[in-house]
Amino acid sequence: MSTEVQRVFNFSAGPAVLPEPVLEQIQAEMLSLPGVGCSLLEISHRSKEFLAIHEAAKADLTELLGIPSNYKILFLQGGSRLQFSMIPMNLLGKDQTADYLITGSWSKYALAEAEKEGKINVAWDGKADNYSRLPAPGEATLNDDAAYAYYASNETIQGVQFPTEPVTKAPLVCDASSDFMCRPLPIDQYGILYACAQKNAGPAGVTVLIIRDDLLERSRDELPGYLNFKLHAENDSLWNTPPTFGIYVVGLVAKWLKNEVGGLDKMLERNRLKSSMLYDVIDNSNGFYEGHAQPDCRSLMNVTFRLPNETLEKAFNDESEKQQLASLKGHRSVGGIRASIYNAMPVEGVEALAQFMRDFASRNG
Ligand code: PMP
Repeated sequence: MSTEVQRVFNFSAGPAVLPEPVLEQIQAEMLSLPGVGCSLLEISHRSKEFLAIHEAAKADLTELLGIPSNYKILFLQGGSRLQFSMIPMNLLGKDQTADYLITGSWSKYALAEAEKEGKINVAWDGKADNYSRLPAPGEATLNDDAAYAYYASNETIQGVQFPTEPVTKAPLVCDASSDFMCRPLPIDQYGILYACAQKNAGPAGVTVLIIRDDLLERSRDELPGYLNFKLHAENDSLWNTPPTFGIYVVGLVAKWLKNEVGGLDKMLERNRLKSSMLYDVIDNSNGFYEGHAQPDCRSLMNVTFRLPNETLEKAFNDESEKQQLASLKGHRSVGGIRASIYNAMPVEGVEALAQFMRDFASRNG
């Protein structure tokens, strides 16, 4: 970035911080894509130039995540919320039941939509503990013969994250909207893994959905076209005009992860370092900061905590904004503070926040 550009450390939960080299490349290519003579925003989704960008995005995601050949990558619209409906519409047969793990706000919203489409078994619900923890092994009533088992790997609002996949023989369907590409994943254990891009992978407007081929056979022809996974797969996400800009940026982010970060193992190391810097401040604050998530369920991406009272929380937000630490207010439904430290948040940003937290506690504790 040129030196006259002022950027804050942006802790927004989403849309969220993007890697600076990606923003710079977008800026450099905005008026004219190299060799094309006009903007990506102005070219056909069927042009050879866009098709090359689309292919490269899929190839880089495939390499980065180790996606096996019996999976398709779809780029869809409607955000993750549309998937709350599309998943049961496509996967849940008339006489079948799907298992849902309810670990926070986003799985609860997904459940409400799925219940409109068919029979759902709530296999576990963390309400009694205010969604501060995840099911212990064997605690959830998952059925191996369920149509699928649904969970959110990271609850963006509560800040709880599954360290590993739940165990079931049913196809696993995962909302990875807020932790996609934050660590390596065994994709072959999933039936569907999906993520809206605007947290860890790109801009709002595109949702990446990775689906195992055999599940596509469940999509019924009677479904409205846009809502049919099989139709999207058969047309390689080009049944209608796809979100071309979003696909381009997701591709640039995947390239950044591959070439500049050095892959998802390296990204995980960096994410562990960043999150531990904040959790250490919380744990060493003599109770001034109280983390929401129980320690074994803490998110690498969304660090959620409370201060002794709302007056202090307001002061924390006001003062942090003044120090160029932006968007730390917790979600309106739960209050408190939430530091979203996605892949693109630099270590220096987390260092600055940790320092601010220590100072604030020593002045107000
Ligand atoms: N799932 C999770 C885990 C999320 O964090 C969000 C967005 N905050 C959604 C789903 C909904 O995404 P969208 O707004 O793209 O529909």
